[in-house]
Amino acid sequence: MKNTVYVAYTGGTIGMARTANGFAPEPGLLERMMRRLPELYGDQVPDFVVKEYDTLKDSADMSPADWTAIGEDIAANYDAYGGFVILHGTDTMTYTASALSFMLEGLAKPVIFTGSQIPICEVRNDARNNLITSLILADSRDIREVCLYFNGLLLRGNRSTKVHSVGFDAFTSPNYPALGNIGIGLDIHADRLLKPNAEPFRLVRSGTDPVAALRVFPGITGDVIRNIAKPPLRGLVLECYGVGNAPRHGSGILDALKEANDRGMVIVDVTQCIRGSVDLTGYAAGSWLADAGVISGYDMTVEAALGKLLYLLGRQLPVAEIKHEMQRDLRGELTAPPRPVVEARTD
Ligand code: ASP
Repeated sequence: MKNTVYVAYTGGTIGMARTANGFAPEPGLLERMMRRLPELYGDQVPDFVVKEYDTLKDSADMSPADWTAIGEDIAANYDAYGGFVILHGTDTMTYTASALSFMLEGLAKPVIFTGSQIPICEVRNDARNNLITSLILADSRDIREVCLYFNGLLLRGNRSTKVHSVGFDAFTSPNYPALGNIGIGLDIHADRLLKPNAEPFRLVRSGTDPVAALRVFPGITGDVIRNIAKPPLRGLVLECYGVGNAPRHGSGILDALKEANDRGMVIVDVTQCIRGSVDLTGYAAGSWLADAGVISGYDMTVEAALGKLLYLLGRQLPVAEIKHEMQRDLRGELTAPPRPVVEARTD
């Protein structure tokens, strides 16, 4: 029996039209264009319904409240459809896909994010292929996770990051191989997909507490951290050098980080390097961070670390548990460290 896929159009270039101020979303355009594509109605493509959101957004305007709205939409339609395609702007697609990978607990169906660099109404576009392939992928009975499909690559949503502002090859997954390579054939690597789990499906709404990401740079001072880490900030993703290092001597950041940690803020160390993992035991220039209460984000992307923090805050967990869960692999977002997770100090 043919599955039906639920397509949520949230905005983004895929359904935009040219205006005097550049591309902007145009209500109704995407569905109009889709009706003109006979290949969408053939045997190889599942049946689908399209839900266009009332306010179509350039994804630069997406916030955690939008992640919750998309999650609620999926949850409300979860039982009725075999899979979901989320059409979304490319700029923040990896943030939304990462966040939803955590928020959709016990997910047992495919949720495929896609979009395009050129709108579907243009003669030359990448929208048509991304859309058709995503519909086919959303019909899969093997995929039980949030993915991103773009330009021939099926990636785990919470492992993906945008690396090209204009190229068709806009996304990559630096620390986990592609889940699928779509060329002449649809090559899905079953061994890389998340395995079925017995958890019942449930939506956890995103936390709304303020969190931030900050890139460490030569010359950063304790006051820069203090200004950002002011209450009510609850979490900070610190993008450090190499295996997680930051300047200790003369910067004053140790005291600033300790103060924030002592107030109950969760500080997660991720690397600025595109590939590889944090190891706070690797260098003296990093181990003092662990002593200050900073926890390792291992090889998580910044997007995954932020989405996971907000998800755990949304679950209203105590700080010690948030720190513990941040260092554990929940949805394939991080490569588990070879040794047991060291409990971070919380006092
Ligand atoms: N600015 C657009 C957006 O993220 C870019 C795109 O969709 O490709 O909505």
